[in-house]
Amino acid sequence: MSSLFDGLAVRHTFADLPSVFYTAVSPQPLANARLLHVNTDLAVQLGLSPTRLHESDFLNVVAGQQPLPGGRTVAAVYSGHQFGVWAGQLGDGRAHLLGQIDTADGPQELQLKGSGKTPYSRMGDGRAVLRSSVREYLASQAMVGLGIATSRALALVTSDTPVYRETVETGAIVTRVAPSFVRFGSFEHWAHDPERLRTLLDYVLREFYPALHQQAGTEQERVCRFLAEVTRRSAQMVADWQTVGFCHGVMNTDNMSILGLTIDYGPYGFMDRFQLDHVCNHSDTQGRYAWNRQPSVVHWNLYRLASALMGLDLDAQALQETLQTFERHFLARYYANLQAKLGLRTWTEADAALVDDWWRLLHDSGADFTLSFRALAHAPAIPEAFLELFGHSEAARDWLQNYRQRLAMDGSDTPQRIVDMNRVNPLYVLRNYLAEQAIQAAAQGDASEIDTLMRLLSDPYTERPGYQAYAAVPPDWGCRLEVSCSS
Ligand code: AMP
Ligand code: MG
Repeated sequence: MSSLFDGLAVRHTFADLPSVFYTAVSPQPLANARLLHVNTDLAVQLGLSPTRLHESDFLNVVAGQQPLPGGRTVAAVYSGHQFGVWAGQLGDGRAHLLGQIDTADGPQELQLKGSGKTPYSRMGDGRAVLRSSVREYLASQAMVGLGIATSRALALVTSDTPVYRETVETGAIVTRVAPSFVRFGSFEHWAHDPERLRTLLDYVLREFYPALHQQAGTEQERVCRFLAEVTRRSAQMVADWQTVGFCHGVMNTDNMSILGLTIDYGPYGFMDRFQLDHVCNHSDTQGRYAWNRQPSVVHWNLYRLASALMGLDLDAQALQETLQTFERHFLARYYANLQAKLGLRTWTEADAALVDDWWRLLHDSGADFTLSFRALAHAPAIPEAFLELFGHSEAARDWLQNYRQRLAMDGSDTPQRIVDMNRVNPLYVLRNYLAEQAIQAAAQGDASEIDTLMRLLSDPYTERPGYQAYAAVPPDWGCRLEVSCSS
């Protein structure tokens, strides 16, 4: 019998590293595992036949019942700083790497999350609950739709396995896809072992930064170029987060991708009501990962990566200078995004102040992040709907007046500006309450809400008739949802 995995080019480069980097360990199957949803577009990109995704071969792999043919199943070791404190060894405590599929876009690693205990589980049960798995599955696609660098999600499996959190919940598995799941914490783990550090660095450069790998130079130069590239990507990633109102929630160094991808979706949130210091993770009592602190936290995390790389006996000054490029990369991307979101053809020094006033206005009025940006396109000509979002305040009128003057100076063509702005200011966003509705339905075995959200979020800019409700601010119950680390 042919399998839908036949003909795929599967490798396992991570598992080809020396065995100190991981443990070969099989997943623990779930009871009565069922495929709740599959990301067909991604499956096709991986070379899987879209008509065969409901066959048992596929379920067996994404439920952790069979290895990926040609792959090797392992759990990776890493360490990390959690909430600013060195946590020592962590590792894939509930995740299994299956192997990589070579695609037109390069190698794509498959990883199960929620697939059972590993030697790195510590006190954990190795499981992920359906609630958080649906959230990760949807968030991955929401970020793809927004054009933000992210791991992706291929499949969502539910089960009859009970998982004990504050209440009894359902065990689930998400299959995640990214070129690599190596983290800052993977390097931190080997900070005091230059040989292993070098092996890991060589691996990451060879497989995922081939252009850097091929450049000649001393180790010092190689590390600086690598750090410069990780700095640039991470700065752009967090700039993209800021301008869609995304809060990650747990920006520990073990949740920072070495490829500059958004990974490890837990108690994340897309802001509804704007608050500069919004904290999405109920467990983050200090507000360490508040929205307005995210850029400096990424920068801090890059310092942790750099200090791990210092294990290679390098010149600290050169690494320090590399880290200082963070601000330049961050601001360039941040203002480029805001320029597009404000519909400006040009960017002047004074526009930074217009942006600051905008955030202040949003903060003071607690206006909805997504709808406020979306309303900007038509605000100059039809101010009513825009002002409504701000309770018709004096401050909103003043800001709008400044914005009008700025647009007049910019001299853009209005119809084109509106089209362009609606292409960068999403109408639909993965609000917590929308995810919650999809979770409630999924708990009853109904994946239709997940399906609807997957479609809307894949193109969040295009208004669709009949879906007004998905662009609405949360109902009262939706404002009171609390999301925490327990997942
Ligand atoms: P996170 O903050 O969710 O990225 O997880 C931090 C660390 O705790 C990682 O090493 C995870 O693998 C581990 N972990 C989280 N939840 C569990 C669980 N239920 N069972 C085992 N390990 C877990
Ligand atoms: Mg993690």
